[in-house]
Amino acid sequence: MICVSIGRGRHRHVSAEHKHLVEQGAKLVELRLDYINGQINLKRVVPDRPGPVIVTIRRQRDGGKYNGSEESRVMLLRTAIADGVEYVDLEDDIAHQIPRYGRTKRIISLHDFRKTPDDLRQIHARLAALDADIVKISTLANHPHDNLRMLRLVRESTIPTVGVCMGDIGTPSRLLAGRFGAPFTYATFHHERTLAPGQLSFLQMRDIYHYDQLTAETELYGVIGDPIAQSMSPLIQNAAFEQAGMNKVYLPFRIPREDLASFLDDAKELGIRGLSVTIPHKETILKKLDKVDGAVRGVAAANTVLFENGCLSGFNTDYRAAMDSLAESLEVQDASSAGRYLQGKLALVMGAGGAGRAIAFGLARRGAEVVIASRTSQRAEALAKFIGCKAVDWTARHNYSVDILVNCTPLGMHPNVDETPYERHHLKPSMVVFDTVYNPESTLLIKDARSRSCTVVTGVEMFIRQAALQFKLFTSQEAPTDLMRDVLRRTIGPAKY
Ligand code: NAP
Repeated sequence: MICVSIGRGRHRHVSAEHKHLVEQGAKLVELRLDYINGQINLKRVVPDRPGPVIVTIRRQRDGGKYNGSEESRVMLLRTAIADGVEYVDLEDDIAHQIPRYGRTKRIISLHDFRKTPDDLRQIHARLAALDADIVKISTLANHPHDNLRMLRLVRESTIPTVGVCMGDIGTPSRLLAGRFGAPFTYATFHHERTLAPGQLSFLQMRDIYHYDQLTAETELYGVIGDPIAQSMSPLIQNAAFEQAGMNKVYLPFRIPREDLASFLDDAKELGIRGLSVTIPHKETILKKLDKVDGAVRGVAAANTVLFENGCLSGFNTDYRAAMDSLAESLEVQDASSAGRYLQGKLALVMGAGGAGRAIAFGLARRGAEVVIASRTSQRAEALAKFIGCKAVDWTARHNYSVDILVNCTPLGMHPNVDETPYERHHLKPSMVVFDTVYNPESTLLIKDARSRSCTVVTGVEMFIRQAALQFKLFTSQEAPTDLMRDVLRRTIGPAKY
């Protein structure tokens, strides 16, 4: 079950949001009455409530907004119980002052906004002993391993426990809470109005992740990277799983560079079957792989991992997706590296990171003469050495008469949509211009290229293809690419085109 927290300054807005949520199907709502400006009046929100509630009046020291006296707060909580609310949230230090009464269930809670303490079990035992119906522990995740520690606690508790890790590292613990046995998880009314760090909205939880349908049998996938919050992959992979009627879910895991190894150790216990891999792990993950495909060997980077029979296998779908997208725009039938259809073409790759690496490798294998330009010249030189091609200074990138131009830098990406890595007047109609940036789809570079009658390949095409190849690796079935493209385009939105 998803419990939606409502934190509004006015009683009538609390009631209106509650009513709206019940109409949307919310089964439990937390009234964060500490958000009320001025006096809290239970009579305005409790008697006519449209559905079950948790009444919470959180003090500032516990991350809330309540700044009245402790005496009045305790009185309000006692009154809520006397009024027969379904649940009250009582912090551990006041639980003993507020006796059980009637049918109201007691959530005994503890918050730590700095860390996930080492002694979670002792804390849990202490809270459980305070006549708890439910124990709630909410702590900041500083490391991905904190999620697993919290979820283990939830799974092994004999008393119903809601254990969530805050912060974007902790988001998976919110999504996996029910799968590990928590009676509910918390969400916000709107994704732009989070009441705790890392919270998702009710609609995100319900419509993207299908929280209430996640069971122990649901197969778990995800994307690892840092940062990860802006990744579009959960949207499109979950939409594809849903359309295919599969009991699978795909989560965002923010994994800082130094936590990759410990996260991979945890992945088995979390039940992860496959992962997309993005910055900064595409290259460092190679050390952890037992098997790799030819593309990973060639590019020396992996963007997909499968966990099979205790083995980690790596794949690179960026490489194939980019080459297939290019081949389609050139109307080449055989996009494989066997056909050296780029022989005699000069290609300029701008950017020497993961995308630049995959594309430069693919272009060279198909016969193109490749030139790499990157802001940091040492990076361009290292990649050029690896591929066996030439590096040029970033400032000299316009000096070549190129047939294929590929942007593998983030220049032009939302919100910096007025940027372009290449000056318009150097573009010629004979050129193929490939921009890997996919948000927006029509970057300034793509717009300029179209206006100069170049052949264009967009980042959306590549992104959908790499995601479709990942879907196939995860499921052994063809991906619903039209749906994935629609979901992506709807999300990046025409306003950003
Ligand atoms: P990355 O590993 O971080 O590499 C980024 C490259 O861009 C580096 O060479 C970097 O140079 C350069 N760069 C960054 N900011 C720059 C700036 N302001 N001016 C000039 N150069 C700059 O990233 P990546 O994974 O290769 O991704 C690069 C782009 O490709 C991103 O926009 C990403 O969205 C896109 N991409 C798209 C797809 C797709 O499916 N469509 C897949 C993967 C990536 P320094 O070394 O100097 O920092």
